[in-house]
Amino acid sequence: MSGGIRIGFHGVRGSTPCEGPRYERYGGHSSCVSVDAHGQAPIVFDLGTGLRAYGERLGGVHPYHGTVLLTHLHWDHVQGLPFFAPLHDTGTALDVYGPRQAEGPLGRVFAELMRPPFFPIRPDGLLGHVAFHDTGDDDFPVGLAKVRSRWVRHVGPTLGFRVDWNGSSVAYVPDHGPGCCPDDPDDHVPHEVLELCDGVDVLIHDAQHTDAEYRAKRHWGHSTVDYALHVAREAGARRLVLFHHDPGHCDDDLDRIAAEAADRAWRAGGPEVLAAYEGLELVLEPAVPPRAASLPSR
Ligand SMILES: [Zn+2]
Ligand SMILES: [Zn+2]
Repeated sequence: MSGGIRIGFHGVRGSTPCEGPRYERYGGHSSCVSVDAHGQAPIVFDLGTGLRAYGERLGGVHPYHGTVLLTHLHWDHVQGLPFFAPLHDTGTALDVYGPRQAEGPLGRVFAELMRPPFFPIRPDGLLGHVAFHDTGDDDFPVGLAKVRSRWVRHVGPTLGFRVDWNGSSVAYVPDHGPGCCPDDPDDHVPHEVLELCDGVDVLIHDAQHTDAEYRAKRHWGHSTVDYALHVAREAGARRLVLFHHDPGHCDDDLDRIAAEAADRAWRAGGPEVLAAYEGLELVLEPAVPPRAASLPSR
């Protein structure tokens, strides 16, 4: 992977975790995706229950330094934080960049949802240190990676993110619903979303509903599979990963949804489409740099 990035999927579900034999292949944990690059501290998208599995995969309690790009504060994106084993080590430090809140600093608002009587401890009761950073429409470095955050349409303040590293790029827009803005036609792709997804190698996008389900749930703030495909095509994304699966969609449903979407994309000339599942890893190798032109001899 030297020079490239590895994208790991630890939770791919939206709304609420689910479990049982019907969910064995795609998994039931809520949103959490990691991005690793050689010589770079890890970047993690969202703190859903998949974060616990990610911590186990890393080897449990040990010092860990990383950055979290948190899209919003809905339960399915935050509940994993206290169960991330490295946070039970005093040597751990997490920087969490998340959506600026009208009610006050992000860290204080987060502590309102993680405190007694709803949870035994507050974030500052963890042994590791968690620092919250209020974020909006921003462009900022994380180590050697370039991070872009933009507001997207959902229920409540919600960000999408893009990470560029050494010529590879990934955009993460797990909760995005065209129906949140009643004046927007359902095929409208906002400028901010195009800024996140423009020409990206991998677009991880909300694909919670089928067309038939969407009509009754338009105000929930999520996309159809078709809209995710539309965004990918408008932005020129090379690969679309369907994400934030509805807990009502079992393995067989997702097989069918992914196959139909891939077929539609193939007929339209791209992009490549797949449905996210727990344990999926995508490795992006950097483009081979062009050879330097030889200098004319003097
Ligand atoms: Zn969600
Ligand atoms: Zn949400």
